[in-house]
Amino acid sequence: MKALVAVKRVIDYNVKVRVKADNSGVDLTNTKMSINPFCEIAVEEAVRLKEAGIVDEIIVASIGPKESQEQIRGALALGADRGILVQTDEKAYPLQVAKILKGIADQEGTEVVLLGKQAIDEDNNQTGQMLAALMGAGQGTFASEVKVADGKATVTREIDGGLQTVALDLPAIITTDLRLNEPRYAKLPNIMKAKKKPLDEKTPADYGVEMASKLETIKVVPPAERQAGITVASVDELIDKLRNEAKVI
Ligand code: AMP
Repeated sequence: MKALVAVKRVIDYNVKVRVKADNSGVDLTNTKMSINPFCEIAVEEAVRLKEAGIVDEIIVASIGPKESQEQIRGALALGADRGILVQTDEKAYPLQVAKILKGIADQEGTEVVLLGKQAIDEDNNQTGQMLAALMGAGQGTFASEVKVADGKATVTREIDGGLQTVALDLPAIITTDLRLNEPRYAKLPNIMKAKKKPLDEKTPADYGVEMASKLETIKVVPPAERQAGITVASVDELIDKLRNEAKVI
C-alpha cells in the first residue's frame, strides 16, 4: 500500500512574523522556513504505518517554490521514500493544492493520504477537506489515532468535548491533530541518505492545474501591540485599579 503525505514549507513556528510594509503579506526575507508542524506529524504517522508493515512506500509531495525541496528532503530524512516537488512561485491556495494532490494520488494509486489539519502560515484548515471532496473519498480530520487494517482506516478524531471514531474506506484522507504522535528527530545518517532518495520535479500544469485563484488576499496586519503590564504593591491597590481604572469589577 502506498501513502501520500503533503508537506508545506512554512515560516518556522519559532520565528516572530514580520508583516510587509504595504500590508500585502508576511515578509519572508531571510526568514527561517520549516516543514509545517502538522505535516511533520503526518510524515511521522506514515513512517509508523510503514514500520508496522502496513504501508510499503511513502511519497511526500510539496507544492511551492524550488526551496520546498529542503522540506521534502527533511521528510525523506524522517523515513519517507521519495518526493515530488510541484514547483510554482505563485501563491498556493487550498483548492489548487487539493487539485494537484488529487492528480498525484490518482497517478500513484495511493490508498492513504495524510495531511496536516492546517498550515500554520495561513491557518486555512481546508486542503484535506477539499481533497476528500474532489476524490469522492472519506475524510478523517483532526486525527488523534489512526489504524489501517482490512481495507479500512479507523480514525479517532478530536472534537469539542470528546473523541469520535470513524471508519473510512480506502483511499482515505486523514488530517493530523497535535496529539496524534510526537515526530522523531532525523538522525545524521538518515539526513545523508535522504540526499540520495528520488525527488521528482513537476509543475502544476503537469496535473492540469492553473494556480490562478478566485480568492484574493486584501490585507494582512500584525496583531495589536499589547500594553506593558505594571506591578502593584498590594492586593488593595490591585482591587482599586481593577475597580476604578480598568472598571472590570
Ligand atoms: P491548509 O488547508 O492550508 O491549512 O493546509 C492543510 C494541510 O494541507 C497542510 O498541513 C499540508 O499537509 C497540506 N498543504 C497545504 N498547502 C500545501 C502545499 N503548498 N504543499 C503541500 N501540502 C500542502
